[in-house]
Amino acid sequence: MGVGIPIFIRDDDVLVKSSSGNEIKRFISIHETIKSCGFIHRPGILVLELFSFPEIIDYIKNETLADKMDPQFHGLFHLEYHKFNTDKIIDHINLAQKTFENWFGKRFTRLYAPWGGNSLNLQEACSFCNVQLVDCNKDYYPIEQAVHFSDLSVLKEKEIAIHWWKQGTINRLKRLK
Ligand SMILES: [Zn+2]
Repeated sequence: MGVGIPIFIRDDDVLVKSSSGNEIKRFISIHETIKSCGFIHRPGILVLELFSFPEIIDYIKNETLADKMDPQFHGLFHLEYHKFNTDKIIDHINLAQKTFENWFGKRFTRLYAPWGGNSLNLQEACSFCNVQLVDCNKDYYPIEQAVHFSDLSVLKEKEIAIHWWKQGTINRLKRLK
């Protein structure tokens, strides 16, 4: 890659149940591909979905401690946070922070709002909790677009977005390096 900046791969909806049948295997193979390409994996965690996958928690923790993963918050579930009042959003963020600390030994710094949602309440809650709100503004490039970049240094301060369950994602990741 050789662009001299860390490249972050944002990966939403981890690990929501999918038709793939083996979510864990798929998630790990996405992560191992990201790692072998020299990128940093930023999974968007749906905290209460992860309770269905207790065996993955230590894996995420170890990869996080090794600086190969940077888990962030995508919701307790895939909820319409942009329609919630501020206190309720704050409650969800606080509960998620406690869970992150327990599981991964680390707090998150970003809320990837489901559906790229935004609202004044979301902004207020995130600023109160000292979390960066990421909505659908162009802080990221979908991988389908990023594979066409000849120079990845345009990704400074930005991320590449994937969905771990999407067909073709692993091949596109390999094309990026
Ligand atoms: Zn999502």
